[in-house]
Amino acid sequence: MAATGKLAFFRLPPLPTVGELIKLYNLRAEKQLSQNFLFDLRLTDKIVRQAGSLRDAHVCEVGPGPGGLTRSILNAGVSELLVVEKDSRFIPGLKLLSEAAPGMLRIVHGDILTYRMDRGFTEAVSKPWEEDPPNLHIIGNLPFSVSTPLIIKWLENVANRTGPFVYGRTRLTLTFQKEVAERLTACTGSRQRSRLSIMAQYLCTVRNCFTIPGRAFVPKPEVDVGVVHFTPLVQPQIAQPFKLVEKVVRNVFQFRRKHCHKGVEKLFPEACRPELTQEMMQKADVDPVLRPTELTIPQFRALADAYAQLCAHEPSLLSYEFREELRLKRLSRIRNKTKGTTPSP
Ligand code: SAM
Repeated sequence: MAATGKLAFFRLPPLPTVGELIKLYNLRAEKQLSQNFLFDLRLTDKIVRQAGSLRDAHVCEVGPGPGGLTRSILNAGVSELLVVEKDSRFIPGLKLLSEAAPGMLRIVHGDILTYRMDRGFTEAVSKPWEEDPPNLHIIGNLPFSVSTPLIIKWLENVANRTGPFVYGRTRLTLTFQKEVAERLTACTGSRQRSRLSIMAQYLCTVRNCFTIPGRAFVPKPEVDVGVVHFTPLVQPQIAQPFKLVEKVVRNVFQFRRKHCHKGVEKLFPEACRPELTQEMMQKADVDPVLRPTELTIPQFRALADAYAQLCAHEPSLLSYEFREELRLKRLSRIRNKTKGTTPSP
């Protein structure tokens, strides 16, 4: 075995249990912050195993809280663990863990939504994008209100190779509300297929690892929780800018039970809607009567490529937003009503 073994055999010394720490520091879960803790170390070990081997790895844990998952990560043979925690009440307990694992744990008191992960690790961790992923992992059990906007932000970072992805194809192991985990991993034709499925899967290999029943958390949330693993793809399945893909996918899914051309129509201003919709569907060679949930990622790629071509020809299309047009029309109707004039058709 290589000389890397020294840290791999690290085990935390005996410590107060997570439950005892919570009592010691009087760490009541804050309902407003959707704090639900995991005390069962077999379960936190199982989450950590989903990340793959963490031997000598650099890891960022988001939202360590009282540190259950943190203990499992430290026991997995990592070389360094950076934790980002927003709630200051957890910092003393995390410092205790840091003393028990000298030189291994860095604590950042901050918000993961604004934390500059691109500055969190040394450049030596980096691997070229086309090679194997770097030995850098992000792991977290975050509140659902944070994990969904965060994954959308991180998917955009994957597309632009920014944030945690300046180091290469950094892997993520994160928890989500079970329904969101199912949407992230839903395949073509399934009931859960949604905007999130396309956005995640065109950029990453996404795996729904296992479900944790709500009763495993303290306090118990209303819902079950899914653990999802993401590995960014070397080559995204759609080679258009993230914002453009996001716009096409959002429009297509706005009428998820209708034929997909209904959503495509809304990419274009009323005056040229029928012609441009027909042109886009023909260019993409996608059957207009398929439902959004029935479209494959190659079909979304064809739609995004066709829309990009139309925008190259007429750049003003890119800034057109159907909902904005609706909002302006509504405003004008209200203004006309208050002036007592008849609205223009
Ligand atoms: N990881 C712990 C566990 O599994 O028991 C705690 C999980 S609890 C669901 C979520 C944790 O994320 C809390 O400690 C909370 O304070 C923290 N948190 C919430 N929003 C955060 C944010 N924006 N940035 C960093 N931490 C956040």
